[in-house]
Amino acid sequence: MTKTKCKVIINADLCKGCSLCVEHCKRGVLCMSGDLNVQGYNYAVADESKECTGCLVCTLVCPEVAIEVQSD
Ligand code: SF4
Ligand code: SF4
Repeated sequence: MTKTKCKVIINADLCKGCSLCVEHCKRGVLCMSGDLNVQGYNYAVADESKECTGCLVCTLVCPEVAIEVQSD
């Protein structure tokens, strides 16, 4: 299994469920949860078994600034 190089932290309660981050992550790290956040939206989650390269595209496209990426 390939581990993430970088840690993706998503503030689930800020997420509006737009899926932009999921569509733009070339590594398939992000997906939408089936659960709802406090605002009633499905929120994005990171699959830690996938390799995040730290490209930061997800942080740039997120209109809610809900994603932070930390390098190890
Ligand atoms: S930093 Fe890049 S590789 Fe990592 S989750 Fe975001 S878009 Fe995907
Ligand atoms: S881009 Fe931001 S608001 Fe849209 S699904 Fe991803 S984390 Fe949520």
